[in-house]
Amino acid sequence: MMAGSHIALGAAAWFVAAPRLGLPALEPVSLGLAIFGALLPDIDHPKSWVGKRVWPVSWLCSRLFGHRGLTHSLIAVIACIALLLREDLPVGVTSPLVVGYLSHLAADLLTPGGLRLTWPLRGTWALPLCRTGSPFEPLVVALVLSWAWGNTTERLDLRAGLRSTGICRLLAAEMPGVCEGVAPAATAVPWRPWNSLAWQGGATPLSQTR
Ligand SMILES: [Zn+2]
Repeated sequence: MMAGSHIALGAAAWFVAAPRLGLPALEPVSLGLAIFGALLPDIDHPKSWVGKRVWPVSWLCSRLFGHRGLTHSLIAVIACIALLLREDLPVGVTSPLVVGYLSHLAADLLTPGGLRLTWPLRGTWALPLCRTGSPFEPLVVALVLSWAWGNTTERLDLRAGLRSTGICRLLAAEMPGVCEGVAPAATAVPWRPWNSLAWQGGATPLSQTR
């Protein structure tokens, strides 16, 4: 599948998996990791999105394993499971990466090219639903993404996002719809240089002289 489809399907997989793992589906870092994981298997193709960015590595992977070789095999799936079981790594990092990675393998399985799951043995496994780059591909991706979005209970709270910027401290009166319910900031005492001048004793201060 195309990189854009893998990005969308990685996000869709995370929307579905995150609540089941007790993790936030819309947290930007987790979502970014899921999308990164969804692009990672094609590191074995020098012309893929990720392959172009690390071309010496992708060139080497391509030469050693071939496209849809090791990185798209059961060995990679086992490595993903092993990564999830590592207790010394934060689950908030490993889970989205693995979910995204597995979404890529599932997506490639739906193309006629399929997966060589038993790599390095011969044999391809496929459920050929749509050809890479065909007009049917974005349709399938859009359907899966909309289904996954409908399944997540989280919703983007734009008002909460705006409030988190601290804008209500400045524009609470101008933005009642956004800042409603936010306690107004304590009235700040305007800083004036002479307020900080303390009387040190000695001669009578000028303000008290007549
Ligand atoms: Zn792939």
